[in-house]
Amino acid sequence: MKQKRIVIIGSTGSIGEQALQVIAAHPEQFRVMGLAAGSNIHRLIEQAHRFQPEVLCVGRSEFYPSLREQVEGAYQVLAGMEGLCELATLEQADIVLVSVSGAVGIQPTLAAIGAQKRVALANKETLVAAGDLVMKAVQENDTELIPVDSEHAAIFQCIRDEQAWVRNLWLTASGGPFRDYKAEQMKNITVEEALNHPNWEMGAKITVDSATLMNKGLEVIEAHHLFSAAYDCIKIIIQRESVIHSMVEFVDGSFLAHLGVADMRIPIQYAFSYPERMVSPARQLDFTALGSIHFESPDYERFPSLLLAVQAGRTGGTMPAVMNAANETAVAAFLQRKLSFMQIPELIAAVMSRHQTIQLPTLEQIMEADQWARDESSRMIY
Ligand code: NDP
Ligand code: MG
Repeated sequence: MKQKRIVIIGSTGSIGEQALQVIAAHPEQFRVMGLAAGSNIHRLIEQAHRFQPEVLCVGRSEFYPSLREQVEGAYQVLAGMEGLCELATLEQADIVLVSVSGAVGIQPTLAAIGAQKRVALANKETLVAAGDLVMKAVQENDTELIPVDSEHAAIFQCIRDEQAWVRNLWLTASGGPFRDYKAEQMKNITVEEALNHPNWEMGAKITVDSATLMNKGLEVIEAHHLFSAAYDCIKIIIQRESVIHSMVEFVDGSFLAHLGVADMRIPIQYAFSYPERMVSPARQLDFTALGSIHFESPDYERFPSLLLAVQAGRTGGTMPAVMNAANETAVAAFLQRKLSFMQIPELIAAVMSRHQTIQLPTLEQIMEADQWARDESSRMIY
């Protein structure tokens, strides 16, 4: 395999760090060309010293002077949304991994697609808020968009070129830490409990989303766009061991499933090595130790965020961007202990009910709807 040159947008996060582990394990095959973080310039500089990229970028411009001063001309330094978009189109890069958290990923993703880079997309909020525009750009530019989110990576591998015969997509969910809680217990959930996911180590925002099951709702919308699947054909099944990463059901009754240990380095590496496979640093799945796999249906009453997300997806237009922005704001407020766990879906529902959906929105209208929802949510919280 020819060496692939990689840019990581969001290198200091959970996915970004694991991507660097994959790259470190295959120095012949992969090379880092550019790294971007939001504000953690200390870690960004450490990563730069280790991986020697050509360009660094900090998303929050106020950290630019400090970053520039500390690297003393060793790397080209960019900043802000403009910098992220410039990095996403870096001429010397083949692959752009978008692993920022939140709708901040929309513009760099579109920029990378426009520059015909292979986009390894971890950032689900981008597809949720702007999926129609992103998929249209992928078609127009004839670019590869390879999903990193484990469920979608699984479906991508199962579906291959058999899209015409798909009956249903089955997204698996661990159910999160509160899958066995009674409705009464859900009222007193603390931040510490919500951040303690049984199966996956992830950033704080997605960990809370996994606890409310919003994460699965976002993934339904993500799957709708990635695989042109009707909402009625996207099913959710709780599979608490997180060993089946998702399944495709075909019209003849066959199911293809993707199994493996719960380790994001597998889908990250696949998005880099595709269509080839490489030895992975992840451990192997031990079926005997696993014993059995359990299935159950999700409970929409205890987890209203899931329903809200699917409703937003079905409404379409600007509604998913609004739902996503309200959720991002609510989760941040929950983490700051300004909102209780069950107030997260309440806030999202309230913001969605006030929004007048615009169908077939432009990027500008999506960004406006996103900002409106953030302002509206903040106003209701504070
Ligand atoms: P983290 O919170 O761990 O990391 C987020 C990354 O984004 C950090 O590098 C952060 O930088 C960077 N960032 C935040 N704001 C900006 C900004 N304005 N400009 C540039 N960079 C910014 O998140 P995760 O790695 O857990 O998740 C990343 C994405 O991948 C999310 O969309 C998530 O839903 C998705 N995902 C994650 C999975 C996981 O296992 N973690 C699984 C499947 C999907 P800084 O450190 O400076 O704040
Ligand atoms: Mg996932």
